[in-house]
Amino acid sequence: LVVGLLWCALIGCGSGDATPGEVASIDEQGNAEEVGSVLLISLDTLRADRLELYGYHRPTSPNVSALGRRAVVFTNARAQAPQTAPSHASLFTSEYAGAHGIINVHGTAPEMHTLAPGVRTLAEHLSAAGMETAAFVSGGNLTRHMGMDRGFDVWDEVNEDVSGRVDQLLRWIFAPDRGRFFAVLHTYQVHAPYLPPREMVDRFTDPMYRGPLRSRLDSYLELPAEEAWQGAVGPDYWDGMLDYTEADVRFLSDLYDGEIAYLDTQVRRVIEAVLTSDLGSTTAVILVSDHGEEFRDHGKYQHDQLYEELVHVPLVVKLPHRLERLGWKGVVETPVQLIDVAPTIADLVGADWSDTGWEGRSLVPALEAAGGEAAALRARPVFTELTIGPGPKKYRAVIVDGWKYIHAWQADIDVTWEWLFNLNTDPGERRNLIRCEEGQAPLQRQRLRELLTAFAEANDSKAAVLGQAGSAEVDEASLRVLQQLGYVGGADGGVLDGSGAMQGATDPVECP
Ligand SMILES: [Zn+2]
Repeated sequence: LVVGLLWCALIGCGSGDATPGEVASIDEQGNAEEVGSVLLISLDTLRADRLELYGYHRPTSPNVSALGRRAVVFTNARAQAPQTAPSHASLFTSEYAGAHGIINVHGTAPEMHTLAPGVRTLAEHLSAAGMETAAFVSGGNLTRHMGMDRGFDVWDEVNEDVSGRVDQLLRWIFAPDRGRFFAVLHTYQVHAPYLPPREMVDRFTDPMYRGPLRSRLDSYLELPAEEAWQGAVGPDYWDGMLDYTEADVRFLSDLYDGEIAYLDTQVRRVIEAVLTSDLGSTTAVILVSDHGEEFRDHGKYQHDQLYEELVHVPLVVKLPHRLERLGWKGVVETPVQLIDVAPTIADLVGADWSDTGWEGRSLVPALEAAGGEAAALRARPVFTELTIGPGPKKYRAVIVDGWKYIHAWQADIDVTWEWLFNLNTDPGERRNLIRCEEGQAPLQRQRLRELLTAFAEANDSKAAVLGQAGSAEVDEASLRVLQQLGYVGGADGGVLDGSGAMQGATDPVECP
């Protein structure tokens, strides 16, 4: 029966062959083998809690919600880094940054790295399994110079409005004689600078706001789109950020919502084209982000801390229609991470990944059981990390059972900082419990410290096996994109005090 189900799914025997509630099984190798092709949509800088699907109160994303109703929605997915390059490298390789070697250190001159030579990328793996591979990305922190293109037959790198990226993607997917494919779409549409179309500006910003950012925006919106995307809007976008009022910050945040609403219309173009064509019966569509965004939630802008608004990301998996009808949809609350995406995709398409050395795990059991009661995944510790200049300063965090411990160390002055949060009682991460000697804090502090130490050691061992990452060329085009994103010579990460320290959390007056 199982073989029959799998075969029918591959060749499409029609819809009358499953009884309600029947669930297709994973075969003996742990492969679902139900999925012909995979489309991975990476919406850069999209924090989960700005989507209605994740509880947001504003209508930013009706189309993502519509996708979510037919998909498996992971409500507790986290990125391995709050920065584009290391996070995508983890997404593409199922390795942590300490092992794959890609870190972001921006400043007056950006420092870029190449993937460690021993890393097996998802695209290499799927290509070897006979799939056609293509990526339509936006460059900047995601370039061929960094080795991010490894395994892709087509690597198309242009920083432009998301609609242009969608055009290219759909042209490739719907080319005649296209075989089984793995395609990636990546866009900086909701990344700063936030310049949504006028219609979305009007829908999401307060018309009474008359601050300096309004006139600045108006002048930017006068520019031809290509100029705006090619560097005409860049570092000066953040001028005066140290003096922004609450109203200014609200305006920026509203613009971000407007960008999401525009992005959502383009997501609709993609999913409608794929799901209403024949591809809908064979293609899995996975929607994800590489990190979130901060609007002074914890004292800064953009993304260079490890708080939840920066590492909690959407992860939505729409299976081919047949699996959806068989019950592969619903909500999974178990904590998962971006390193789990590659093993999941490999499992879905039946590409055995047991010899890859990947650090993540397949989420297929959770996809299969999402509509049911079973807790198909055991909770595992989640790790996320961040390296920033000056120093450099290295942050590492572990999250387990609703507790979050963050360790920071700055190399040049050899100073250490620590934070401990109980996300169950303090989801906003305001009360640093690291010095609390009452309640569960001491025990959790000890336990999470040990987990993080073991994590760091494991990364070092893995890195020794995978080999040294090299430094990557930063060409003119990449540099322009980095400038436009606000990383070069401008307000890198919105650092307010120049110390690079995490902000916005204090020791509580009383420990719980
Ligand atoms: Zn990013």
